[in-house]
Amino acid sequence: MQIAECGVRIGSMADTQRFDVLVIGAGPGGYVGAIRAAQLGLRVACVEKMPTLGGTCLNIGCIPSKALLDSSEWFAQAHSKFAHHGIVCDGLRLDLPAMMNRKDTVVQGLTHGIVGLFKKNGVISLQGHARLLDPQTVEITADDGTSQTVQSGAIVIATGSEPISLPSLPFDGDRVISSTEALSLPEVPQRLVVIGGGAIGLELGSVWLRLGAKVTVIELLPRLIPGTDTQIASALQRALTKQGFTFILGARVTQGAVQDKQVTLTVENDKGQRSELTADRVLVAVGRKPYTAGLGAAEVGVVFDERGRIVVDKHYQTSVPGVYAIGDVIPGPMLAHKAEEEGVALAERLAGRAGHVNYDVIPGVVYTWPEVATVGLSEEAAKSTGIDYRVGTFSFLANGRARCMDEAEGMVKVIAETKSDRVLGIHIIGPRASDLIAEAVLAMEFGAAAEDIARTMHAHPTLPEALREAALNVDRRSRQS
Ligand SMILES: Cc1cc2nc3c(=O)[nH]c(=O)nc-3n(C[C@H](O)[C@H](O)[C@H](O)COP(=O)(O)OP(=O)(O)OC[C@H]3O[C@@H](n4cnc5c(N)ncnc54)[C@H](O)[C@@H]3O)c2cc1C
Repeated sequence: MQIAECGVRIGSMADTQRFDVLVIGAGPGGYVGAIRAAQLGLRVACVEKMPTLGGTCLNIGCIPSKALLDSSEWFAQAHSKFAHHGIVCDGLRLDLPAMMNRKDTVVQGLTHGIVGLFKKNGVISLQGHARLLDPQTVEITADDGTSQTVQSGAIVIATGSEPISLPSLPFDGDRVISSTEALSLPEVPQRLVVIGGGAIGLELGSVWLRLGAKVTVIELLPRLIPGTDTQIASALQRALTKQGFTFILGARVTQGAVQDKQVTLTVENDKGQRSELTADRVLVAVGRKPYTAGLGAAEVGVVFDERGRIVVDKHYQTSVPGVYAIGDVIPGPMLAHKAEEEGVALAERLAGRAGHVNYDVIPGVVYTWPEVATVGLSEEAAKSTGIDYRVGTFSFLANGRARCMDEAEGMVKVIAETKSDRVLGIHIIGPRASDLIAEAVLAMEFGAAAEDIARTMHAHPTLPEALREAALNVDRRSRQS
C-alpha cells in the first residue's frame, strides 16, 4: 500500500470495502472533489442519501431555479418586450406544467451526467445515509434498510445545508414553503409573500412575479442583498420595484397563521408598528444552515462552531485527523462554485499536491433581471478598511450592444486602489451580469490593475465593453461617457 505525501493510504482495487477517500454527499463540493481525487489516482467512493446525484445545487437549487428563471423571463419578455421588437404574440398564455417539465428534464439531464462522470473517472457511487462510526469507518444505510460498513483513509464531509425555518412560522410544505417547494408550485399564487430579501428570495420571487403573482418581499434589514455594494443593491431595488415587486424593508414577521389555504402574517417595522398581511403562499427564504443530521460527526469528536458549521483548518481538516469537511457545511459563502473549488483543493492535497482556494475572488450572482454580479470589495468594505481607492462607473445606457438588445438598464462599477491601480472589486447590475463577471474574476485573480482591463481590446459591440469603459473611468477617461 502506497502512502501519499499528506498521509492518505492508496489502496488496491481488490480492496473493495476500503477506500483512500470516502466523500459523504454528492453535491458540487462532494462530486467534484471525488472526481478530482479519482483523476489523481486515489481510490474514491462517494456516498449520497438521495436517489439522484448533484446535491442541493442540481436537484433543488441552482439548476432548477435558473431553468425557471430563464423560462419565466421568456414569458415576461413575450408580454412586455416582444412587441417593442416588432414581434406580435397574440393569444400568449402560460403552460405551467410544460414549464415545470422542462425544468425537470434539465435537472435529470445534469444529474444523470454525474453518474456518467463517476463511471468515466472511476468513482464508486454508494447510495444511502452515511454515519461515521469512527474516524476511518462509515456505516451506510440504504433506503431499504440494509447497511454496509466501509473504511477509508480520508473521510470528506460534504453534506451541504438546508433551509432555515422561522420559529413563528414553521414550514408546512404547502402554504408556508421553502425554496424546494417554490420550485414546483402547482399553480401561480395570486399573492406570494417572500420573507428574506437575499438572492434565493429575489430569484424565486422573480419567477412567480413574472408568471403573474403579486409578490411582496419582507426583509429585516433596510436594504436588499446584504453585503453587496449598496449602490448596486439600491439599483436592483429600483429595477424590481418597476417590475411590480413590493418591498417592506426593516421589518420582521412576528406571527403567522395558516387558515383556509391562506396565510396571515403579523409584520412589525423598525418603529415597532404592526400590520397584517395575507398571502396564498409564503416563501421563507431567510438563509440556510449546515446539514449534519444523523452523520455521527460530533460523536467521533468533530467540533462545530456556534452556527452549527464544522470547524476546519486551512487544509479543510476537522478537529479529527483524517476527517475533512468542505462546502456549505463549513464557514464561508454558501455557493456551489465555492464548494467545488474546496473539493478540488482538498482532493489535490489528499493526493499530495498543493491545492488552494482564493477566497478574495469568489463571485456572487443574483439571477434576477437585470442580474447582479459582484466580486471583491464593495465600496463600503473598501471605505471601512481605510484603503485609498478610486471608482469608475459606466452605464449600460451608453453600451451599443445593450441598446440593440433593449436591455440598457444597469451599470458596471470598478473599484481600484488609488496608488497601485490594483482592482479591489467589480460590481455589475445589468444584462447577463452573471456572464460578464467572469472577466472581472479573472482580472482580479491575476492581480490586474484597472488600466490592464482598460487596455485590453474588447470586441465591439458587446456587453463586456461596459466593463472596459468602467475601468477606463477609474482614470476619468471613458470614451463614451
Ligand atoms: C434555490 C437555491 C438556489 C441556489 N442557487 C445558487 C446559484 O445560482 N449559484 C450558487 O453558486 N449557489 C446556489 N445555491 C447554493 C448551492 O446550491 C449550494 O451552495 C451548494 O449546493 C453547496 O454544495 P455542497 O456540495 O456543499 O452541498 P449540497 O449541494 O447541499 O450537497 C450535499 C449532499 O449531501 C447529501 N447528504 C447529506 N447528509 C448525508 C449523509 N449523512 N449521507 C449521505 N448523503 C448525505 C445530501 O443529500 C446532498 O445531496 C442555491 C441554493 C438554493 C437552495
